[in-house]
Amino acid sequence: MNIGWIGLGNMGVPMATNLIKAGHQVTVYNRTLDKTEPLLALGAAYAESPAQLFSTCEVVITMLSDDDAVREVYTKEDGILAGADNGTIAIDMSTVSPETSRYIAKRCAERGIGFLDAPVSGSVKPATEGTLIILVGGEERDYEMAKPIFEALGKMSLHLGENGAGSNAKLAINLFLGITVQGIAEAVMFAKNKGIDTEDMMTIINESACGSAISRLKTHAILAGEFPAAFALKHMAKDLRLAFQNGARTPLAETVYGTYQHALESELGDLDVMGIMRHLTGPGAE
Ligand code: NAP
Repeated sequence: MNIGWIGLGNMGVPMATNLIKAGHQVTVYNRTLDKTEPLLALGAAYAESPAQLFSTCEVVITMLSDDDAVREVYTKEDGILAGADNGTIAIDMSTVSPETSRYIAKRCAERGIGFLDAPVSGSVKPATEGTLIILVGGEERDYEMAKPIFEALGKMSLHLGENGAGSNAKLAINLFLGITVQGIAEAVMFAKNKGIDTEDMMTIINESACGSAISRLKTHAILAGEFPAAFALKHMAKDLRLAFQNGARTPLAETVYGTYQHALESELGDLDVMGIMRHLTGPGAE
């Protein structure tokens, strides 16, 4: 397929790379031009604006930071909608609010194009390995058209209902992730205060029934006390805010929402999500 790709951040680069590896013809656009270089080196073409992508592509995909970025890239003067043609589809794989997904779907329908909200569960490693879980909202016929793309990007895709359903499911799984990450941090900190070595505690967690892909994935960062972003804390804070605004008002949801917002206010947003540990232990703590 001829696929346009917008957004070459931590996730966008490995995902677009996998589309090229699967044999698709990919044309990329990124606000910061030099981030297109690794994709151009693999054979991708380059577009000067989001609108230009639909002149060669039947599908255009966005993988952008947040609601504001998605709304801007779709609706600005040289945005996606300006170039949209009948029979094409747009897919947004960013994590945004269900309201934004439904709004963009409506604007796409007005232009005669299909739209899927298709956020992903999984971070940079599954994005690189093509093992993401893709959560889709939208029309069945658009989902069928997009399936070859999802097969190149993930180990599974689930069609969950109308536009907004993918975004709702994504907020739910990230609520669980936020709670889990904070839970790991608090268990390790409590153990350390009681004299239990952190390496021993991570072994206990990872070998127990509570051990999970996320605890194993973050063990190295916890032991090193270094948190370079794979999934930035600011994105988790955004996802928990979206869940909260969409009615997640349960005890744990309210607590993690507060913790990550405070970490954001302490300017820890560019750390990895596991950097919540630095916030909980206080400035300068390991
Ligand atoms: P990222 O590394 O911060 O990249 C964000 C991308 O959005 C960049 O290409 C950036 O362009 C672009 N962008 C932001 N604002 C823009 C605007 N106003 N106009 C045009 N482009 C704009 O983010 P990421 O980690 O790849 O995550 C992307 C999305 O996937 C987020 O919604 C995140 O919540 C979600 N997600 C992330 C992970 C993860 O582990 N990282 C996992 C699952 C889902 P520039 O290069 O010009 O800044």
